[in-house]
Amino acid sequence: MNAPSVPLRQVTIVGAGIVGMSTALQLQRAGCAVTVIDRVAPGESCSRGNAGILATYGMVPLSTPGFIWKVPSMLTDPLGPLAMRWRHVPKMLPWMISFLRASRPVEVERIAAALAQLTRTTVEAHLAQVAGTRAAALAQPTPLLCVYPDEATYQADQYVWNLRQQHGTRIHTLRDGAVREMEPAVAERFRFGVVMENCGYSPDPFALVQALAEHFVEFGGRVLRHEVRDVVVGAEGPVALMTEAGQLPVSDLVVCGGVWSGELSRRLGSPVPLEAERGYHVTLQRHTGDAPRYPVMSPAQKMLTTPMRGGLRAAGLVEFAGLRAPPDYRRARTLLKHLRTLFPRIEAQAHTEWMGHRPSLPDSMPVIGRSPHFRNVFYGFGHQHIGLTCAPGTATALTDLVLGRSPAIDLTPFRIDRF
Ligand SMILES: Cc1cc2nc3c(=O)[nH]c(=O)nc-3n(C[C@H](O)[C@H](O)[C@H](O)COP(=O)(O)OP(=O)(O)OC[C@H]3O[C@@H](n4cnc5c(N)ncnc54)[C@H](O)[C@@H]3O)c2cc1C
Repeated sequence: MNAPSVPLRQVTIVGAGIVGMSTALQLQRAGCAVTVIDRVAPGESCSRGNAGILATYGMVPLSTPGFIWKVPSMLTDPLGPLAMRWRHVPKMLPWMISFLRASRPVEVERIAAALAQLTRTTVEAHLAQVAGTRAAALAQPTPLLCVYPDEATYQADQYVWNLRQQHGTRIHTLRDGAVREMEPAVAERFRFGVVMENCGYSPDPFALVQALAEHFVEFGGRVLRHEVRDVVVGAEGPVALMTEAGQLPVSDLVVCGGVWSGELSRRLGSPVPLEAERGYHVTLQRHTGDAPRYPVMSPAQKMLTTPMRGGLRAAGLVEFAGLRAPPDYRRARTLLKHLRTLFPRIEAQAHTEWMGHRPSLPDSMPVIGRSPHFRNVFYGFGHQHIGLTCAPGTATALTDLVLGRSPAIDLTPFRIDRF
């Protein structure tokens, strides 16, 4: 378990979210001396408040055939799953055009096949990663129940279900009373259910990152609290990071900075169209009525509910407003309304609200790979809605690359110069 006395490589990782900390731990286990640098404490950013789902089904990109026709009704519905601050529209128009282009069936199938390399094995990969750490109980297998009002609504999503099954999601369907037999908290109006049998979840995704970080530090890793403002590039590649506290020398550099990665990659000669897909959650710390036993998904509201250690969490929504606009917590309260539709016997007594920035590229795929310009620079960011799901797979691939081994998965679709 301890790193060998002469480390294989000296690696610096920017970003202590779930992707950065997974990568740090796996590189450390492989014998590297690793430093993680972040302006905030481990897990404080997007990895803090997600729905906690290890989404074996998450290979389907956001932009699917016919999505474009649903956008106007989504945008005009005040309780709808998609919102846009109009001032931000001109800035993100090129991103939106690429996003809609990615909805062609041939593209969707290519993207799903690429992402399935990471989603298919997420539960096993998380279990292996947390084994022997204090995070051991913070990743668990679970079935996930997806509910529809009726079978016809489910059939309308058949394209997506076919893709999911083709790429490793095991499902069975439930009719009428069987939905409430599995999950008594669900409203009677949801008469059709799909159980995704081989998913997983974290009952506390923030604590998961913190526990991975504690383990990493206990075994000799360094976590530094600094803002990386620039990179000093020598003849062979980066030699130091510029922080508010001065220069930090680097040997191998891995950028896992979530939605903020674009600034660093641009300085390193690889600009990317990275956009913040803002999402919200409410967590019911106290409520009346029975909570669901399993995570439940409601596709109509694009909402996931997860029973967590800190209470029942409802998470979802997409808001395009950029990185700097303040959160609009009216949207989080929308989730409370949806929650009552899904679980009518639950009445919230105390809840918390949160907003996070999903790091999203227009083709719904992350960047994972080596820089085309510098041999000592590696990237792992842009995991949009499935960063928790894909973190250990991304970490394994990055560890292989840093150590000069061939990754077990094909990283061609994830290269940074694909745009
Ligand atoms: C509402 C919601 C629900 C979600 N539900 C799920 C789910 O159920 N399952 C799932 O798989 N995913 C889910 N996600 C997505 C998931 O949370 C993200 O994809 C994931 O957290 C991204 O992790 P990350 O490590 O890349 O980024 P982050 O957690 O954002 O970490 C990046 C870190 O890099 C640091 N950083 C960047 N640049 C610099 C710099 N220059 N100097 C210093 N520090 C820097 C930042 O401070 C930050 O802490 C959800 C997201 C949201 C918003």
